[in-house]
Amino acid sequence: MIVEKLKVSLIAKQNELSKRLADIENDEGVDEIHQQTLQELQRIKQTLAMLQTEQYGICIECGKLISNERLEALPYSKHCFVCSENLEIKY
Ligand SMILES: [Zn+2]
Repeated sequence: MIVEKLKVSLIAKQNELSKRLADIENDEGVDEIHQQTLQELQRIKQTLAMLQTEQYGICIECGKLISNERLEALPYSKHCFVCSENLEIKY
């Protein structure tokens, strides 16, 4: 089941990022990395929350299912391949 697999890998990523965040918190001049890490953590949290709902894996534009291959490559994806191409967006 792709959702379970994604959940496991996202939680692992979340732990890794949290650890990294704690490491860089003490350093000077890493604001940018800090911000990026925070943003990514935020995205993982949102995706994990989405995974609990029926909405996950459904394109928010056309309502079709997003392929498992795409979700595995881009777990944060909210659009199917066709819509992301049409809208020229990454996720
Ligand atoms: Zn679509």
